[in-house]
Amino acid sequence: MREFDVVVVGSLNLDLVTRTSRLPGPGETVIGRSYAEFPGGKGLNQAVAAARAGASVALVGAVGSDHAGALLRDVARNEGIDVSHLVTVADEPTGRAIISVDDDGENSIIVVPGSNACVAPAELPVGQVVIAQLEIPVATVAAAFRTARGRGATTVLNPAPAAELSNDLLSACDIVVPNEHEIELLGGTERLLDHGVSQIVVTRGGAGVDVVTRASSLHLDAFPVDPVDTTGAGDAFCGALATRLAVGDSLLAAVHFAAAAGALATTKHGAVPSQAHRSDIEALAATRPTTTR
Ligand code: ADP
Repeated sequence: MREFDVVVVGSLNLDLVTRTSRLPGPGETVIGRSYAEFPGGKGLNQAVAAARAGASVALVGAVGSDHAGALLRDVARNEGIDVSHLVTVADEPTGRAIISVDDDGENSIIVVPGSNACVAPAELPVGQVVIAQLEIPVATVAAAFRTARGRGATTVLNPAPAAELSNDLLSACDIVVPNEHEIELLGGTERLLDHGVSQIVVTRGGAGVDVVTRASSLHLDAFPVDPVDTTGAGDAFCGALATRLAVGDSLLAAVHFAAAAGALATTKHGAVPSQAHRSDIEALAATRPTTTR
């Protein structure tokens, strides 16, 4: 079986975005100004981030047998991502996020998991690093991580959207990468360490990153950039982190590179389009030594 640097087990969504002067109340209809569709879902975003950061990537997931499924499969394939474990299910629609944004930037979002609720791979591709998020069934993530661990791979969980994590899942995670809201909901870094997670990387947006282990707690500042849209920063960070861990970087070196990828993602609009390529990430990363405080 071919071995990949990074195996992403996760969601794919088609984001349907309407813009309107104000959001409708219950029972109300308003006329929207524009409509557009964008590829999304944390699994796809992180797979694209890893591929552009230089990894060979397999994406494990599920789409429906509709136009959205075909479109998302093409997006992944066009990035050079292996889609042989991306299944098409017959009786669920492809995952959708229905997003309305008003003139003040306020939004309302309905996520329909659809096919993402059906991700239950019969077989997991072999990878150096296996990364997952929580937009697919938690039991699937736990099973994938146990298989990966059994092969000596490193398992990385991005616990987003935040959810209660079973001891069963935590005991199969090597590295957990929450943002500052998710770590609060998970009960703090101590709790994760107590459940056997050896390394926790807390992303704090423009305030940088904390890297916490039993032995130490280090902070890395964010790279200074002029953000225009922070959508996809966390996914950029996770994809880039997995990429560098897969090629043998230390955790701190991988976090340094990932922070540069996260910063670059804020300088462009969208989630998939804003993912940076390796040479640009390396150029930003090189502007600073791997300093910590
Ligand atoms: P999420 O999108 O999951 O909430 P964060 O907002 O914490 O994730 O972003 C992930 C990482 O991307 C941060 O730890 C940081 O390294 C980088 N990043 C995010 N926002 C900024 C910013 N405004 N300036 C510089 N880097 C940023």
